[in-house]
Formats: sequence, C-alpha cells, structure tokens
Amino acid sequence: MVIATDEGLVVVDGTCRGEGDPAWLKQELALRYEVPVRYVILSHDHEDHICGLQVFDDTAVTISHANAREHILRENRNTSIPDVVFDERMEFFVGGKQFILYYFGPTHSDNLIQIHVPDEGVLIAPDISRAGKSLVMPDFRDADIDNLIETLGILSKLDDVDIVIPGHWGTTTQDRFLDYRDYVVALRDRVLEEMINGASIDEILERVTMEDYSDYGNFDLWFRSNVISMWDKMYRYREPNVNSEGAGEYQSAYPLGYTIGGYESGAQ
Ligand SMILES: [Zn+2]
Repeated sequence: MVIATDEGLVVVDGTCRGEGDPAWLKQELALRYEVPVRYVILSHDHEDHICGLQVFDDTAVTISHANAREHILRENRNTSIPDVVFDERMEFFVGGKQFILYYFGPTHSDNLIQIHVPDEGVLIAPDISRAGKSLVMPDFRDADIDNLIETLGILSKLDDVDIVIPGHWGTTTQDRFLDYRDYVVALRDRVLEEMINGASIDEILERVTMEDYSDYGNFDLWFRSNVISMWDKMYRYREPNVNSEGAGEYQSAYPLGYTIGGYESGAQ
C-alpha cells in the first residue's frame, strides 16, 4: 500500500512474491512522484508482508511495533530494520495527512498493527481481515485468540473508516471484522466443548464441521488447519480434570504429526 502526499510517500508492507517486489515498486514510485518515500510501516514481522523493504532505507524512516523489531532481528528477516517503534498508539503527519497506528494487544502475532488514514477513510488491516466473508488466516499459530476476538470488535467500530484494506487481496469493509469474529468465537467454543467432553483431535476433526460457516472464503483450503491449531491453542489453555473420562489418555496423547502448513496456494 502506498499513501501519497505532497510532501512524501508512505509505504505500508511489501512482498517478494512475484515481480512486483519493493525494488520494482521503488522504480515505479520514482517515475510517478516527485517526492520521496518518507516512511515505511511494517504491519507485523511476518516476512510475506515486509520482504525487501530495505530498498527504501535511503530516504525512509521505518516504523513498527516494538515486538516486531525483536522478531525481525531474531529471525533475520529480509526487510528494513525498524528505526522507530511504539507500543500502543502512534501518530504522525506527512503533507498534512494524519496517520494513526494502532496496537490493541496480541492478535494474529504479538506485533500486528493497523494503519489508519482518517482523511482518506482508509484502514489498512493486514492479516486480521480479508475481502468478503472469509476465514482470514490458515492457522492460529502465533495468535492470541481471546484478544483477537476483542480486537475484531474494536476495529469494527472505529470512526472514519470507509474502506478496509486486508493486504492480501482486494478491499473490504468493517462489517467483515464481525463476520470473522462470529466464526472465531464459534470455532473456539465448539472445539473447547468437545475437548471438555474428552474428544481427541481426530474426533474433533470429525465432529466440528462448522457447516454453517462453509460459505466463508478459503473455508475448503484452511478449515482443517484452523481446527487443528485452535485445538492446539485450547490444549495449552486448559487443564482437564484428572478423573474425567478420557482425561488420562488425553493428557498423555498429544498427537504430533498434524501438519498445519501446506495451505499457501489458492487463497484469496
Ligand atoms: Zn501474518
């Protein structure tokens, strides 16, 4: 995403997938605009969102959440290392336009932020929204489920938002935050209920079908990995009663080998 102002450009995220990488973007922006890229904002540390952005280091200040910088350094991400970090909220102005960066706590990763440009009515919200009613992510690997649910509600109510930009595909609106929230709440509650009744992950995969959400985008592609990683989250969240049926077997049988990757192609 690129926001143009009279005094400079602001780039949010970039990708090295395909030919439209940041090196290409830099050439295109130099052809089209008289002003330099002043700021690069990293939505979070995942490399598919920030790859190659160091090409703007000659003119831009790079901003991220404080936690993102730690992940970027530890994982040696192929990106620009943030110069400026913040914790809860940050604002700056370029060419008279206001940019507000939000962090509502850990959601999809512990450093995902949203970028709001109220003058444009735009909220950039990668990996916490998708175009249309949709599963948003393949899994909940580094997610905080309860705060994700909370944050989806907050994002749905922000003022001065006409367009939500999910980052991966197309544009959407704030209503979709609530559609996704409904799905995550239902999935969490249904998986948890089965676990309390002593169901194994195999039984949960059979029983928690979520057919009432099967019209959501990316359902066929990501539903199985959503169930497995939700089960994994709840496994770590709760302690079963010692004497309940199946509890002993349950506690000793953490089934490894449930691959939650391999879901990249075909997503929208
Ligand atoms: Zn991500």
